[in-house]
Amino acid sequence: MKLTEYDISNPFTATVTQSERITDENTDEVRHINLRVEHPSFNFIEGQSVGVLVDAPPVFGNEHYMRLYSIASSRMGEEQDAAEISLCVRRCFLVDEISGERYPGVVSNHLCNAQPGEKIKMTGPYGRHFMPPRDNTCNLLMIGVGTGIAPFRAFLKHVYEDRKEWKGKVRLFYGAKTGMDLLYLNDKNGDIATYYDEATFKAFEALSPRPHFDEPADISATIFDNAAEAWDLIQDLKTHVYISGLSKLEEDLDKVFSVAAGTPEVWETVKEELIEQGRWSTLFYG
Ligand SMILES: Cc1cc2nc3c(=O)[nH]c(=O)nc-3n(C[C@H](O)[C@H](O)[C@H](O)COP(=O)(O)OP(=O)(O)OC[C@H]3O[C@@H](n4cnc5c(N)ncnc54)[C@H](O)[C@@H]3O)c2cc1C
Repeated sequence: MKLTEYDISNPFTATVTQSERITDENTDEVRHINLRVEHPSFNFIEGQSVGVLVDAPPVFGNEHYMRLYSIASSRMGEEQDAAEISLCVRRCFLVDEISGERYPGVVSNHLCNAQPGEKIKMTGPYGRHFMPPRDNTCNLLMIGVGTGIAPFRAFLKHVYEDRKEWKGKVRLFYGAKTGMDLLYLNDKNGDIATYYDEATFKAFEALSPRPHFDEPADISATIFDNAAEAWDLIQDLKTHVYISGLSKLEEDLDKVFSVAAGTPEVWETVKEELIEQGRWSTLFYG
């Protein structure tokens, strides 16, 4: 769905209550931002996104710049306060390929610059195709890169804090450029590491083989190294697969799972079945 097709006719405000940089100063800036939503009927489920609106100068024709951000909290809200949600936002830049100049992305910079007390204009929530199953005996296979971790933080909070007991296996394959970029799994913020003690949870981390060349994390290699674990889960009818992050990830996964399946054709058939059964959900950021 194109951004222009989202209904933004009922915007509301949210106040920033906290903004914390969750990556080291030596790497890209990503912030965990808490917001208090001022909208009495606002409710959401894990995997949904909000729209953030920034006023645009009248010369551009559109009234607003609008971008989507995954809610990183579970439906119970941050600290079990349903009016408080969190976002995980990377400060983005557009790079002019000819001049090499960097221009700040409007909406991510607006969010990353916002100080506690500032108001943010929002819409939504949107999307109900990427949500955890109700049955707590289901397995969750979550595969993500970069800020694609945001909905998985929400899933894990739901599974282990709201639901208290989750009997199915919960597996997270997560990739980032360096250890410092492993969001919610680094020294700055270890929210997700707190679930390592859960008997049903296991996380597999993937890092870039050449971070100085800005190469992405080699998540395929990590899945390849743990192919038996991932492939066994995929074949289990109780497993739901979730993929989140940049869209190139799906291409990489197709290659890995083609090897695991024996041929690309067999993998294509398995994937079609997963999609038909509602067990393969994707959330791509660009
Ligand atoms: C469903 C959905 C959920 C999203 N959730 C999040 C989220 O939780 N956190 C988040 O930071 N972004 C998220 N995004 C991306 C976000 O909507 C914006 O595209 C991003 O913040 C850039 O907007 P901008 O106005 O700052 O810059 P723009 O001028 O729109 O883009 C600047 C540049 O950044 C690149 N870029 C955009 N997003 C990313 C990213 N996440 N990682 C690396 N490069 C990127 C773009 O390709 C572009 O080259 C999501 C996108 C979608 C479609």
